[in-house]
Amino acid sequence: MIKSDFHTHTSFSGDCETPMEDQINKAIELGLEHFCITDHLDLDYPERYGYFDLDVGPYVDRVLEMKDRYKDKINIYLGIEFGLVPEEGVSKRYEDLANNHPFDFILGSIHTINWKDPYFPDYWEGKTRHEGMVEYFDTILASIRMYNNYDSLGHLDYIIRYTDIPADPGRNKELLFDNFEYKEYSEVLDEILRHLIRKDKALEVNTAGYKYGLGSTHPGYSVLKRYKELGGKLISIGSDGHKPEHLAYDFDKTHDLLLATGYDAYVIYKNRDYEFVKL
Ligand SMILES: [Zn+2]
Ligand SMILES: [Zn+2]
Repeated sequence: MIKSDFHTHTSFSGDCETPMEDQINKAIELGLEHFCITDHLDLDYPERYGYFDLDVGPYVDRVLEMKDRYKDKINIYLGIEFGLVPEEGVSKRYEDLANNHPFDFILGSIHTINWKDPYFPDYWEGKTRHEGMVEYFDTILASIRMYNNYDSLGHLDYIIRYTDIPADPGRNKELLFDNFEYKEYSEVLDEILRHLIRKDKALEVNTAGYKYGLGSTHPGYSVLKRYKELGGKLISIGSDGHKPEHLAYDFDKTHDLLLATGYDAYVIYKNRDYEFVKL
């Protein structure tokens, strides 16, 4: 059983209402040993959509307080999810935040592409699905080329949540399922995976894809196989749970998927350093 959830949210995130202690109590109830809280900070998030701001000081204090309060029951880790963009000024601000707080783990995720959020229809206006996905993957590559102070790349292909692919419930039970044709994007995806490997960064396996009925983690089977093939070893695992019932979501299935794609361990982070945990 996977006993570590390294991507979770609390009410410090703009899109989450669950109090931190409710998440922690659920994690304890689930029998998790390692629990990393990674609330959102998206500097430069387009104002017309809303806010993904985070009051970093109080957030850090609160997680550290919880870490101490629950230390006999569960290991709590101070994480954060940075919404990366390929902008020098923004990268510099993330860099300062990363250096000035005692984070255990920094997740780098890309939520906006040229000041548009693919969650909203205006991103897709005048684009085919293929074009929208390529632009997203290109933005990931540009962002991680510019910004290096993170540990794992979050939900690599989560954009498929917002494309028009109907979830096929008949296939959701299958493990070796992909939501898009890897070959169509192999050039840019290989560049991203090679970059992560060169920089000793982890690739996150985000289990929210199962929750969304997509039948796969983000990323799924073929990307995980490819990362392994290229020499990738560092896999971090997270549910991206915004509610207690979504923590450790489908971790059993994820365990089997990782074994099927050639992995025998995943990583957790303490003080920005990884250690392997056997599957
Ligand atoms: Zn995210
Ligand atoms: Zn998240």
